[in-house]
Amino acid sequence: MCGIIGYAGGRNAPDVLIGGLEKLEYRGYDSAGIAVFEKDGVRVVKTQGKVERLRRKVERAALAEVHCGIGHTRWATHGEPSDTNAHPHTVGHVTLVHNGIIENYHDLAAKYHPSPVSDTDTEIAAAVINACYRGDPQKAIFEAVSMFHGAYALCVMFDDKPDTVYATRCASPLIVARGENENFLASDVPAILCYTKRYYLPEQGELAIVTRDDIRFVDEAGNPVEKELKTADWDEDAAQKSGYDHFMLKEIFEEPRVLEQTILKYKNDFSIFEDEEFCFEVKGNIHIVACGSAYHAGLMGKYAIEKLARIPVITHIASEFRYDDPILHPDDLVIAISQSGETADTLAAVRLAKEHNVRTLGIVNVRGSSLARMADHTLYTLAGPEIAVATTKAYLCQVALMQLLAVKLAGHRLTMQEYKDMMVAFETLPERIETALSFRETAENIAARFVDKEHVFFMGRGQDFSLAMEASLKLKEISYIHSESYAAGELKHGTISLITENTPVVASLTDSARMQKTISNLKEVKARGAFVTVVTYDDVATDDFADCKISIPRQPDVTATLPAIVTLQLLSYYVALQKGCDIDQPRNLAKSVTVE
Ligand code: GLU
Repeated sequence: MCGIIGYAGGRNAPDVLIGGLEKLEYRGYDSAGIAVFEKDGVRVVKTQGKVERLRRKVERAALAEVHCGIGHTRWATHGEPSDTNAHPHTVGHVTLVHNGIIENYHDLAAKYHPSPVSDTDTEIAAAVINACYRGDPQKAIFEAVSMFHGAYALCVMFDDKPDTVYATRCASPLIVARGENENFLASDVPAILCYTKRYYLPEQGELAIVTRDDIRFVDEAGNPVEKELKTADWDEDAAQKSGYDHFMLKEIFEEPRVLEQTILKYKNDFSIFEDEEFCFEVKGNIHIVACGSAYHAGLMGKYAIEKLARIPVITHIASEFRYDDPILHPDDLVIAISQSGETADTLAAVRLAKEHNVRTLGIVNVRGSSLARMADHTLYTLAGPEIAVATTKAYLCQVALMQLLAVKLAGHRLTMQEYKDMMVAFETLPERIETALSFRETAENIAARFVDKEHVFFMGRGQDFSLAMEASLKLKEISYIHSESYAAGELKHGTISLITENTPVVASLTDSARMQKTISNLKEVKARGAFVTVVTYDDVATDDFADCKISIPRQPDVTATLPAIVTLQLLSYYVALQKGCDIDQPRNLAKSVTVE
């Protein structure tokens, strides 16, 4: 987690650094700082709090016009958010910013830096590099990182090497971007899109040396490394709010378009995944590994694959996978889902699968990310950059992609008619999402009934239960209301004791086969005073068990949950808005979880 930025060029460096940090703030936002080369040395300005606060502090600091520097927006792992713990950290000749965790920092501190100023592992990293520094930055950095255990992306400045930024990484993301007479470093592409779309992806064991005129890569032996210059296919607008109050709302309204792009990429009139080299035959089991919303997308995938392809699917929470001693067979397939492709636990799960010689497939949104590079095969969701911390459009694309995959894996199990119906379902999905979005006002009105509540329950059966899990997560992430999701049939095994007068209960009813059962469960909670909201097809009468209804168009069941979840994303958004929460950057969260 955290956002890193670096710059060398003709512009005023603090402007570029702070502008970049604003674009990266979704990665962490408990403190922020910059370091720049001034005439007489390196100058650091940093503060607890958001980048906006840093901007004001930098303005007050009245820095001279400078042209090279580094910046950081933090998601604290070691030490509370404070001015002292904020990055950059300086020890001796070295000033650096860091994304990740140096796990053995304690041992290193004992040897190299027994009296640190901050509580961070990062300061120790700076101290070790400084201790190794005898005039040659390359040697010092390689020697130091060979002692680090853990994950890091580092941008380093040496006070006697002005206007040069050195960078290296292990597990944490970093790009080096090439402009015209200026060059950049960043944790992610959106930070540099307004300047350039051309970038390199440094690998572990490589060091980037970046100045205004030059970008060089060297390996540990000091040999130059030739790297491919990539071009980002995201446009600059993707990283702007474009008139919306929040990125989350903008991203929800982008859902029809990104879904259409994702579906069109993998499906033409006659076939799906036609252009992919990946072999879709699976003789053993499928394991899906993911975290958070991606895990919920995996649950939807399990439902679709088992229903359509009849292949057993085991879903795993990625952080548990490697400790569970999972039963893996070379005929199995491990599918790892991650928006950023940098989720540490998901990457570890893929590593383990590879150790067991099991094929791996990544479902990823970010090109060139660690998961995309690590998995044997990658299918990209085309959601574009997602800036709001709470995922919406990327989750939707993950679900759609898993459902397309289910149809492909099903192959001849589906009759021609079933196959055609599914194709029509995918084709009409963007339009049906548009219809769901048109219920924005209904969601906004219902939200008013939730703002003063402390607890909300989401329930459903089958894939409506997976949807309930995602809807519940969304609400708690951004509105801080405690919410739980239940398989509707489980409620009376305990949780129904929590239902009292006006307790909000939300259910989606898209699974036709189980709909009547869930309706019975809703009547049970209604009889105990619950305030019931349902999302269901427009032709389902709900008056005798629901207080509010959000309608969605009827469609084949497998893809029916997607319009339903959109309405519940809107509901969460409006609850959080009416509560005055910081929607795009909720408390304690960060978008890409690159630590265990
Ligand atoms: N471990 C470092 C710290 O706590 C870096 C955290 C981050 O990636 O933001 O400061």
